[in-house]
Amino acid sequence: MKDYGAYEPVIGLEVHAQMLTSSKAFCGCSTKFGSQPNTNVCPICLGLPGSLPVLNVNLVEFILRMGLALHCRIAPRSVFARKNYFYPDLPKGYQISQYEEPICTGGYVEIDVEGEGRKKIGITRIHMEEDAGKSIHDADASTLVDVNRCGVPLIEIVSEPDIRSPREASLYLNRVRQMVTYLGICDGNMEEGSLRCDANVSVRRKGEVELGTKTEVKNMNSFRHVERALAYEIDRQTGLIADGGKVVQETLLWDADQNIAVPMRSKEEAHDYRYFPDPDLAPVFVDEPWIKRVETSLPELPVPRRDRFIEQLGLPQYDADILTSEKGIADYFEAVLAGLPGWPGQTHGVPAKTVSNWVMTEVLRVVGEQKITVKEFPILPARLAALIALIQDGTVSGSLAKEVFARMLVTRDEPRTIVEQGGLAQVSDAGAIEEAAEMVLNANAPQIDKFLAGNVKIFGFFVGETMKLMKGKGNPKLVNDVLKQKLEARRR
Ligand code: ADP
Ligand code: ZN
Ligand code: MG
Repeated sequence: MKDYGAYEPVIGLEVHAQMLTSSKAFCGCSTKFGSQPNTNVCPICLGLPGSLPVLNVNLVEFILRMGLALHCRIAPRSVFARKNYFYPDLPKGYQISQYEEPICTGGYVEIDVEGEGRKKIGITRIHMEEDAGKSIHDADASTLVDVNRCGVPLIEIVSEPDIRSPREASLYLNRVRQMVTYLGICDGNMEEGSLRCDANVSVRRKGEVELGTKTEVKNMNSFRHVERALAYEIDRQTGLIADGGKVVQETLLWDADQNIAVPMRSKEEAHDYRYFPDPDLAPVFVDEPWIKRVETSLPELPVPRRDRFIEQLGLPQYDADILTSEKGIADYFEAVLAGLPGWPGQTHGVPAKTVSNWVMTEVLRVVGEQKITVKEFPILPARLAALIALIQDGTVSGSLAKEVFARMLVTRDEPRTIVEQGGLAQVSDAGAIEEAAEMVLNANAPQIDKFLAGNVKIFGFFVGETMKLMKGKGNPKLVNDVLKQKLEARRR
């Protein structure tokens, strides 16, 4: 009997993130995505003889943000190196990268593993790099080359082999994406390739300290693919080892259509990059004041913000996780809170949980349906706050508020205007409610008998009918109270 349970996977991820600088890493060319092929180029990013690269200081600024956010050590001096290889989309014949002396080392990312709690995944290093071009294999079997991407700035984030399951890998990747987007240094789009991930994986006997032979899986362009590819590869290696076989160190490409990882041809993976320090670029010097300045400019990061939402605002972790999943959502949520009368304070004002419910169920629903970002969401936070305040002070009922919300999406008007013009205000007038309740009771004698005979569930029927009669505008609490009174009165 093979005992698969006796083995555990060991995973380390290498993530490339494309930096949102407006110009390339070592020249003034634009980094704009989707430009006409081969238009964002110059002698420097083409590596023409006699051209000299000049470092884009924003790239350093951006990697410092990430390094500091991930608790890394920042090297006072780091060095660019040439990574040499031949490929048609690499006209220079080398990529500028960092090798022996990267700018950021050490550090960690915190993830929340379901049922296991918080776990730290170590960061080995983060370094600066430039991208290569793109080969397009077209229909009539010719290959076209677009060098627009040559020289586009990247950072590579290398993790320690601390990840123990495909799920953890996905949580780690998610956290890295959340970090780069919070920091505003990368758009985090995996489908468009702004965030790319190579997964290194090995399998070993549980309790074993030595690492097993690893393979590297590439070509996964979504979180789901990363999880699937890892599960596939872990399964394959475990089977192999349990059968007494040996894992061969190689690079595999994930085939998302067939759900398999296929070995690259060995020629393609044979790599001897002959790294050496780039003689055209000076070392990068980062002093303490620069580090201090970047440190103080960092926004509140996702994990501390999530914790603050739980501790200070009393939100459930589930809500706090969703609200802080993107900076835009968290900013929107807090702007709604700030727009409420009586805020800060959860006893006199509206509980944060009420606002959280509106953002999570209504705002995010619309954002998803309309495929927009929270920034593009048509209702300004202050207006949503005004709507919530109208519910709080009894002007509109919760259900009519949904109607007001729907109209606000279209007209973008103040909620009060919509309530007044649409006659959507809640009726709290006792006389009007009593009149409606009386009419409903008079028309439904058999149901009253059932209720009095002990069928309490039928109470909801009376509420529903009364609300219907009042076109949904009855104050629900008062409608309930009045009906209860009247029904009890008929008992005697
Ligand atoms: P390479 O020289 O092949 O690039 P590195 O030592 O630079 O390998 O590691 C690259 C990535 O692979 C890192 O994320 C690291 O954590 C991970 N890694 C290294 N060895 C193993 C292993 N035996 N099993 C799983 N992951 C590993
Ligand atoms: Zn250029
Ligand atoms: Mg490596």
